[in-house]
This record gives sequence, C-alpha cells and structure tokens, in this order.
Amino acid sequence: MTGSYLAGVDIGGTKIAVSLANTSGISIRVYQNTRLEGTSTIIPEQVDFLLRYACEQRGVQPDTIMAVGVSSCGPFVKEMNRTLLVAPNLCGGLVPDRGIIPNDWTRIPLEAVLSRRWSTLTIENDAVAAAVAERLFGAGGGEDDLVYVTWSTGIGSGAYINGMLIHGKNGNAPHIGHMYLAEDGPRCGCGNFGDMESLVSGLAIARDYGGGLTAEDVFKACQNGDGKAKEIISKAIRNFARGLASINAILDTKVIVIGGSVFINNSEMLLPGIRDEFYRSFPVLSEGVDIRPSGLGSYLGDMAALSLVMPDDWIRKWQDNELWERAPPAIMLDR
Ligand SMILES: [Zn+2]
Repeated sequence: MTGSYLAGVDIGGTKIAVSLANTSGISIRVYQNTRLEGTSTIIPEQVDFLLRYACEQRGVQPDTIMAVGVSSCGPFVKEMNRTLLVAPNLCGGLVPDRGIIPNDWTRIPLEAVLSRRWSTLTIENDAVAAAVAERLFGAGGGEDDLVYVTWSTGIGSGAYINGMLIHGKNGNAPHIGHMYLAEDGPRCGCGNFGDMESLVSGLAIARDYGGGLTAEDVFKACQNGDGKAKEIISKAIRNFARGLASINAILDTKVIVIGGSVFINNSEMLLPGIRDEFYRSFPVLSEGVDIRPSGLGSYLGDMAALSLVMPDDWIRKWQDNELWERAPPAIMLDR
C-alpha cells in the first residue's frame, strides 16, 4: 500500500491547500490564494489544478489517487445529492451590501465539478473534518462524545454523539457560530444580530476595539495592560464559554477541543477564563466536561482533509508515528 496515495483539500476564504499522503506520511503540501474572480466554477477548477499539480510533482498518476478528502468552509446545501458551497466569505452574491467579495456567486458547485475527475470524494465542513482529525490524531483521544470548536476569524464546530459524526440534512451540524446568544447584539456576516460569531470572532474583537487594529493587536494590547482591550477580551471569553455551555446542553458531550488561530495564538490567556465561565453554567451538565486545546496545531488543516478518507489500516501507523509531524513545508504557488 506504500505506493498508494490519498489527497486532502482544505478550502478557506483566503487560501486553498492540497496535500498528498501515503503510509509514510504527507509527501507534498501546496497552496494558493483562493480565487474569487470569474465564474462560480473557478474554485473547484483551482482545486483540480492544485491536485493535478501535486500529483505531477510526486510522479503520481491522478487516476491512481485512492480518495480525496475535502474540508471546506461552509455552509453547504445539497442539490441532487451533491454538495454546493453557500459560503458568505466566498460568494459575493450572498452579501452584496458588504461589497468586499469581487463576484456575484450565490453558490459554488463544488462536488459536481470535482466529481467529474475525482471519483472517490468526501466533502465535509472544515470544523466537522477537524473533529474527525482531532478525535483520531489530536486531543480528542478517540472519545465517542466530542465537540470540536474553532475560534478564528469566524466560529465553527463539528461533533460526535455516541461515536457517530453528526451531519444534518445539508452537512452543517452543529453550526454554533450562528446560534443566538444576545438579544440586541452586533450584526454577523450571515445577517444575524447577536449570534456567537458576531460577539466573539476575531473580526468581532477587532470591530469592538476599532481604530483599524486586528484581533491579534487587541490581544497584544491586553497583555500590555490596555484596559479597553482587557474588557473586550473578557467579554469575548464569557460569550465563547456560554456558547460552549449551550452546545453542551444540547449534545451532553464529554470532551470539547478548541482550535482556530484566535484561540491557539492566545490559549494561555483564554483557556482559564473559558473554563471558569463554562463550569459556572448548570453544574449537572457542565461538570466533568473536559475542555482541551487542539492537539494538531498547524497540521490541523491537512489532517482534517486527510482524516476524512484515511483507511482504517493506515490510522494506527499514523497514530503511533505521529506522521503529520514529518510533513514537508507547504509550497506557495503563484500563477
Ligand atoms: Zn452569524
């Protein structure tokens, strides 16, 4: 099986990354900035290009790739049983009043285009795929009741209940970023007012501080004793933890794994406050839930995609040898 390859694809609002892997580990990682101009098939065509490029670099015939796992920003809809992306950070037609995305797409026919060339395809929301990767290879420790939450530019999540990965009718479960938390909150990119993402995302932290600072700047200011930054971050921590308590009230989970750039870059500052607030919520439900940082760090994107299609007989070898740690640096392709 050493000669057989899997491919992983990670589609985000700023970049698209592709990796190839076999039983020895990840052999190549390439990425490009996400193309947002042209027709609505441009992103699946870009994915196809990157897959073929990676195959060519490794001397692999594209039709010998065993399976392609795709981890993508969402939400999704399904049409004729095929997944389309309906993501406000990719489709300008969904958020015309924001005018920041240079296209008028309302949906992206991801599966219809990719499946023409890549027959064994598994597509999941990126946070759902991350839940799979963290459970198999990261901080999830194989637990059957597990929630993964990403705290980044936006908020996403994926979950297992009784050992089963949950999907929902369009593959969007549990989309906790758009769960309401406040009555008169700020507007989210999705159009909701006062949902979790509108209150705690990296964008929300930057917006609350103002002055053109990024979320990372606000965290730095907080560390330097800036009172306003401290207040904004304390409020974000409280709301984030309440979001976790709400999802736990619904799913009765055992382990919550947190990833995403906002959290990972500032986990020492954030984790104690998240735990304090979480365990203050209805103790019968919150007690004993284990809140852990992501175990895969910068490999999570690649591993999320690859985990979706990794055969059972590869998993043990990857776990025992932590093969993701030996991945080569990602190559940026200009075009
Ligand atoms: Zn929202």
